[in-house]
Amino acid sequence: MSHNTLHTTIREKVNQTLFVDTHEHLIEESQRLAGPSSLAPLFTCDDWAYLFLHYALDDLKVAGMSQQNANQFASPDVSPQDKWKLFAPYWPRIRQTGYGRAVLLSIQRLFDIEDVTAETVGIITDKLRNGVRKGYYYHVLREVAGIETCQVNSLDRSFRETEYPDLLLQDISTVHMGSGLNVQQLRRETGLPVTTLDECYQAIDWYFESYGQRAVAVKNQSAYERRLNYLNVSAADAAPLFARYAADPTALAPAEERAVQDHLWRHTVRRASDFNLPVKLHTGYYAGTGYMPLERVSQNLKDLCPILPEFPNARFVLMHIAYPYQDELIALAKQYPNVYVDLCWAWIVNPLATKRFVKEFLMAVPANKLFTFGGDYTAVENVVGHAEIARQGLAQALSELVDESWLTESEALGLVEPLMRGNAYQVFNKKL
Ligand SMILES: [Zn+2]
Repeated sequence: MSHNTLHTTIREKVNQTLFVDTHEHLIEESQRLAGPSSLAPLFTCDDWAYLFLHYALDDLKVAGMSQQNANQFASPDVSPQDKWKLFAPYWPRIRQTGYGRAVLLSIQRLFDIEDVTAETVGIITDKLRNGVRKGYYYHVLREVAGIETCQVNSLDRSFRETEYPDLLLQDISTVHMGSGLNVQQLRRETGLPVTTLDECYQAIDWYFESYGQRAVAVKNQSAYERRLNYLNVSAADAAPLFARYAADPTALAPAEERAVQDHLWRHTVRRASDFNLPVKLHTGYYAGTGYMPLERVSQNLKDLCPILPEFPNARFVLMHIAYPYQDELIALAKQYPNVYVDLCWAWIVNPLATKRFVKEFLMAVPANKLFTFGGDYTAVENVVGHAEIARQGLAQALSELVDESWLTESEALGLVEPLMRGNAYQVFNKKL
C-alpha cells in the first residue's frame, strides 16, 4: 500500500469514528439561549469575539494585546467591527497556534467561512446569534464535531443538573471538599453545619449520595493552587485542626491548613472509589497568562508517585499530558496500573508535542490507558475545531508509526476505536 493511500485509510477511519470526549467545561445550552451573563463562565459577549475568549485570548495577550484591549474585546458593548480593529494586529501571530487554529477550524466547519477578516466578523456574528436554538448542542457536537458524549466539569457549580444527561455527562468537582477546602461553600451547597471533621465527612457524603450515581467522574484542579504531595494525615491529627479552621478560616498556619487539605483530599479519593468514579486530576500547564510556577508544575507527577500505590482501587486520570513533563507521564502510566492518561486540552496547547506523545506512549504503555480527546472549552463551537486537530494528530501519529515500521496497518487501524472511544467506555463504565 502506498504511503498516501495508507494515510487516507487511517484518516478515514478516524473521521468515521465518534469521539468519547472526556473533558469539557461547556455551559448549558439554556445558558447560551439566555444570552451573555456574568453568571455564565467566559460568556461575556455573543458576537464573533466569543469564540476567542477561552484560550485564544491568552495567545492574543502573549502576542502583544494589552489587558485594556482584551477587556474591550470581551465586552458586550463594543461593536464587531471595533473588535476587529483590536484583534487584527495579532491575528497573523496566533492563527497557526493550537488555540488560534482551533477557533479558525470551528468557524470554517460550522459557518463555511474561510477566515476571520474585517468583512467576515459581522457574518460570523450573525450566524452565531441566529444558530443558537434548542437542539444546537446536538447539532454542533454530534453532527459536526463527531462527538458521542462529553464529560463536563461545570465551572459554576459542583455538579451540573444538565438538560442533556445523555449527551453531557457530568463530573463532581471536589476542590472545595479538601485540597482547596471551602467550608462556606460546603455549608451553602449542603445545608449542613460543617463545624467538625465528622460533619465535613457528612457534607462530602452528601455530594456523593446526591450526585454519585449520575456523575461520570470526580474532577480536581488544585494543581493550580498547590503541590500534589498529599500527606497521610490521620483523622486524630486533622480533627482539632479542622474544628479551629471551621470556626475561623484564618486561624491555621499554612502547614496546618495543608494537613487538613491533605487528609480530606484522601478521604475524597476513597469516597470516589466507593462510588466507582475515576479521579481526574489536572497536571501540567496552566491556563491564563503571566503566572505558571514551573518548579511546582514539574513536581506534579513526582508528588503523585508515593500516593498512587496507596489507592489501588482508585483510577487516576491524569490530564493534559502534564505538559511540558509528558515524558514523565509515559513513565508513570507504564509503571502504575491505576494511572490513565487524558489528552484533553493537550492538542491545542501543543499539537505537535501531543502527536509525538501519542507515538511514544503507544510504543511504551498498554494502549487501553489513553483517552485521546477532551476539548476543555466553555463554548460548544470550539469543540469542533479542537476535535478536528485531534483527528489530524491522531491519524498522523498512527500513520507515522506504520511508515516507520513500528506498527502494521491493521494494528494501527485496530487502535482507532479503542483510542477514540472504547478505552473511555471501559474506565468511565458507569454512565456510558
Ligand atoms: Zn479543564
